Amino acid sequence: MREERMICGTKRNRSTCKRMRKILFPAVLLAGLLVCGCSDGAQNSVTGVETDNRVTGVETENTVNGTGTDEKTSDQGTEPEEDTPKTSLFLGKYDSFEAWMERRQGSVGFITDRTLLLSVYLEEPDYQWTEEDIQVTNRVKKIAYSFLEEELREKYDTQIQLIYDVEEHEDLLFHIKLEENIPAYVTTEKEREIDDLEDAWIATLPVRELMEKYQADSVGFLFFLAHEGCSYSSMHFIDDGVKTWDESCLLYLRDMYSKTLEYETPAVYAHELLHLYGAEDLYTEADVFSKDTYEKAQKQFSGDLMINTYDVINGKYTIYSDSVKQIITPLTAYLIGVPGVEYPLEGTTELVKEEVGCFSGSTYDRPF
Ligand SMILES: [Zn+2]
Repeated sequence: MREERMICGTKRNRSTCKRMRKILFPAVLLAGLLVCGCSDGAQNSVTGVETDNRVTGVETENTVNGTGTDEKTSDQGTEPEEDTPKTSLFLGKYDSFEAWMERRQGSVGFITDRTLLLSVYLEEPDYQWTEEDIQVTNRVKKIAYSFLEEELREKYDTQIQLIYDVEEHEDLLFHIKLEENIPAYVTTEKEREIDDLEDAWIATLPVRELMEKYQADSVGFLFFLAHEGCSYSSMHFIDDGVKTWDESCLLYLRDMYSKTLEYETPAVYAHELLHLYGAEDLYTEADVFSKDTYEKAQKQFSGDLMINTYDVINGKYTIYSDSVKQIITPLTAYLIGVPGVEYPLEGTTELVKEEVGCFSGSTYDRPF
């Protein structure tokens, strides 16, 4: 089994939202970089979030070299082996943590999994979180994930279980102190370095204990940065090595493409989380599939959240802080493995999934 894990291990990759926006909105991008105003953005209404789980002293220096995933994943938390029950973990679907790790889907597997989302607030030398800004992200999370729950329940009669509310469950919130700032735009070269950092951050979290406590069979990591940037996701690819297994979203407080640096939107949070379940970007600039496939997808499934997280109104980049305007069409529902949804795209089989909840191939096959 271990050998198999070595072969169908993990790899992470980002979505290509950043590329899309860069291509489509060079002027907006420039303006966004030049203007340093801030906005009222989303109002927060929640108080009393404690930062109990503050993790201090996490050094970034020991995170850049690739310590093996085996070590990393088995070392998560401080659990003594003998204290860990070997049965009835994770809703009984897996016999052990090790058995769970052997699945091909990565840490975030099936859309119907009971999914734990840990919120990790990264404290950079130049950018620290305030209570107020954390509450903003909590509000955006609620809008985004409620949207996903409602959309899937109402349109596809599918109940999803996302456990993410740090106000209700304070042990899902963490702070990690960094020694260096994370750039607003993570380039492909820098991405590998950030991947290693993410692995090291995750290794400091009591993942296994929390999964058991909440009886979760999937776990994802939401890394938050207290400044503007271009959010992206790190997904699991079947054919890549064991170096990475855990799937995560890197979410910035503010949208660097917004002229006034508005808060990152619920649409972006929802879009990024869908990636972890297997959703593909459906905009042409993602450049993974043929142009023809993208055109067919956009024509047959317009309005899908994986095509766009914003509108262009009279040439103006327009985002929404209070709701998600896009929808989950049958194409994305199929890609994330919503039960009973068959492949719906007419005229091409390019988006047919080999296996539900997985990204086939390697991240290195992809053009980003
Ligand atoms: Zn994307």
